Amino acid sequence: MTTHSLFPTLVYTKPLQPRGTPAFNARLLRECLQLRHDDAAGRHWSRQSYPGGYTSYSSVSRMQQVSPTFAALESKLSTHVRAFSRELGLDLDGRDLSMTDCWVNIMPRGVVHGLHLHPLSTISGTYYVQTPKGCPGLKLEDPRLDRMMASPPRRATRGGNPAWVVLPAVAGRVVLFESWLRHEVPPNPVREERISISFNYNWF
Ligand code: FE
Repeated sequence: MTTHSLFPTLVYTKPLQPRGTPAFNARLLRECLQLRHDDAAGRHWSRQSYPGGYTSYSSVSRMQQVSPTFAALESKLSTHVRAFSRELGLDLDGRDLSMTDCWVNIMPRGVVHGLHLHPLSTISGTYYVQTPKGCPGLKLEDPRLDRMMASPPRRATRGGNPAWVVLPAVAGRVVLFESWLRHEVPPNPVREERISISFNYNWF
């Protein structure tokens, strides 16, 4: 008997760069904290839509266009996005994937980032700037979950087949996924802030 593993969901994780990460993350960290200080509109939006935390998602969502440090991040990320695109076998018809959005997320203790996906994008992801010990990872949901009407729960087999998977958040690492893959960040149980930069790439 042969069983086939069809329609796999690919998720990419890799260190952003082989060296220089502590200094680069120190620059990013300074800019993330400065942005929160300066961005009154973002703090206001976060009070309603990201309680207890700060995100520039609705206020300064193209950081790669306003900060040379984030522009450098974009350049480093694009190499990973191209590699992931090749792995996915995407036929881009001669077009390139380009970064459309890039924003900052700061999660103090107790803050949660609810289940969501990234509409109108092709590849999305996160880069981790500060990940205190004990902070939550990225929880990815099985995209078939909404069709499993009478499906029994599953035991982990051959590397796991659960309804969701949590990828640990590690400073200096990139996570990439296709933008339709639903995900969330569970509540941060530790006092120190979890700081990440999220982004979207599109091919039009
Ligand atoms: Fe997200």
